[in-house]
Amino acid sequence: MDIKFTDLGLRAELIEGIQRLGFESPSPIQAQTIPVALEGHDIVGLSQTGSGKTAAFGLPALNLIDINRDETQVLVLCPTRELAVQVCEEIHRLAAALKGLVAVPVYGGAPLDRQMRALRKGAHIVVGTPGRVMDHLRRKTLRTDAIRLCILDEADRMLDMGFREDMEIILGDMPEDRQTLFFSATMNRAVEGLIKTFSHKAKQISIERKSLTVDTIEQTYYEVRNRSKIEVLCRLLDLETNPRGIVFCNTKQMVEDATEALTARGYVADRIHGDITQANRERVIKRFKDGSVELLVATDVAARGLDIDDVDIVFNYDLPHDPEDYVHRIGRTGRAGRSGKSVTFVYGRDIYRLETIERYTRQVVRRMPIPSLEDVEG
Ligand code: ADP
Ligand code: MG
Repeated sequence: MDIKFTDLGLRAELIEGIQRLGFESPSPIQAQTIPVALEGHDIVGLSQTGSGKTAAFGLPALNLIDINRDETQVLVLCPTRELAVQVCEEIHRLAAALKGLVAVPVYGGAPLDRQMRALRKGAHIVVGTPGRVMDHLRRKTLRTDAIRLCILDEADRMLDMGFREDMEIILGDMPEDRQTLFFSATMNRAVEGLIKTFSHKAKQISIERKSLTVDTIEQTYYEVRNRSKIEVLCRLLDLETNPRGIVFCNTKQMVEDATEALTARGYVADRIHGDITQANRERVIKRFKDGSVELLVATDVAARGLDIDDVDIVFNYDLPHDPEDYVHRIGRTGRAGRSGKSVTFVYGRDIYRLETIERYTRQVVRRMPIPSLEDVEG
């Protein structure tokens, strides 16, 4: 049942990059799109933010690159410079074992001549915003003859941002026999229209977002100031019997601080975040799974892709910024008909962010009074 990265048909060098990124197993969109993309089909990949779409197209892209040809073979279009940079970085990490791979981000607001030099030296993969890619096409600093794969990342957002015409011109400039991959968080008429224009045979692969059921997760929140969080967390933990829980924080530092504070108070807690080595993370996860660690303190990024979904209670020690993260976090509990609890700490103005989450999930998070020490001791 569990699909592994080694099952997808990727070149062996790529598996090393995947390990370096710390990915244990492919996310659903990766597992479903990668083999189809490797067969050469056009794809429309639809899945929510944070589901791993970058590697879903980055890996097939790297898989087809011929390193010995210093021509541009893959073009990725992204809506913003931040995304272009981020996608390019992830591609570099995935390409860790591909010696000599060149992937270059091109975006507006940065000096053209540096990008031109990088392109002239030969970039196997170009990741750019539509406006700047158009510039390079006009100047012939970006050659299209060897392009075999075009990827539109966040196609919905690019259309919303008014890039439709640029996208059409760019795609129209690409070799006819190229492969095209469209990725988007949502499907709408505009995205559909774009796909119809540029691919008649695209296979649509959509991953349903995880839905929440009110019955199985009891969602509550407590109004707690930052400096009182640890104390309230401990009181709540003491009201549970042997809870297996995950404590989510927004930053690595907060994960470190909370883990230290819990450990100092006698709880068996350990942590995972981006600065912990893969080997150590695996050790922590194993100990959490076998029950020798009762509390796992984690950032969203470190917890993503882990198949831990049978915890009793999830704490949002920090309120997540993205409602999707909230859904991911609390989805770790209340699975398979079992009951689960989520507890969120929030204070002051941030209540409005919780309201955004409630609108997003269409569910109510109940406010609870902070238990007094007598409740805990009695
Ligand atoms: P999307 O583009 O769908 O919003 P991203 O590609 O940006 O998602 O991935 C979100 C995060 O999840 C990134 O930090 C990425 O490194 C991480 N990630 C992606 N795939 C996996 C995986 N298979 N296992 C663990 N983490 C992953
Ligand atoms: Mg993305």
